[in-house]
Amino acid sequence: MNKISCDICMDLMPLVKDSIASEESSRAVMQHINECKDCKILFDEMDEISKIKNESIRMNDKKVISKIKNQLVLGAMIMVIIGSFIGVGISESEWMFYNIIIMPLIGGLGYFALKQKFYIVPIGIFLLTYLWNFIKYIIEVPTNGMDLTAIITAPSAWAIIYSGLCILGVIIGFLLYIAFKKENE
Ligand SMILES: [Zn+2]
Repeated sequence: MNKISCDICMDLMPLVKDSIASEESSRAVMQHINECKDCKILFDEMDEISKIKNESIRMNDKKVISKIKNQLVLGAMIMVIIGSFIGVGISESEWMFYNIIIMPLIGGLGYFALKQKFYIVPIGIFLLTYLWNFIKYIIEVPTNGMDLTAIITAPSAWAIIYSGLCILGVIIGFLLYIAFKKENE
């Protein structure tokens, strides 16, 4: 099979392009387009078309991936915010020890969502915890009988513990990220 017709050549072209044609078919097509101008033009056009097609597929994949990533980041941020309020809100209640898990989780999720700006989450936890307890102690002054010094200093103990746990979560998140990255390399 040395000489082939234009029709056969056109039929074989897509197979040659996709590299699934047999060696003999590929050779026959190449030989034909070397001699036939019309088929050569068609063959080159197919190159352009497949290039454009691949490019648009790649662009679409990128768009889908970045969309999923954005949604994951948004979800993580919402969980961080809700988790922060729940965690801080259960301070001094019977559930407060759940914060040993909640705060590192918030830190880890915060690291996932914010990457280089991860420090926002522990700082946010510190401020939220401090303000929350500060306001709570002021409201409860008639029953807790705290003086001003205690009201100012006591919330910082909670704030330091919670942001410390949160930083622990950031570190765990960072280590997981490094481990995951190494595995992917
Ligand atoms: Zn031809």
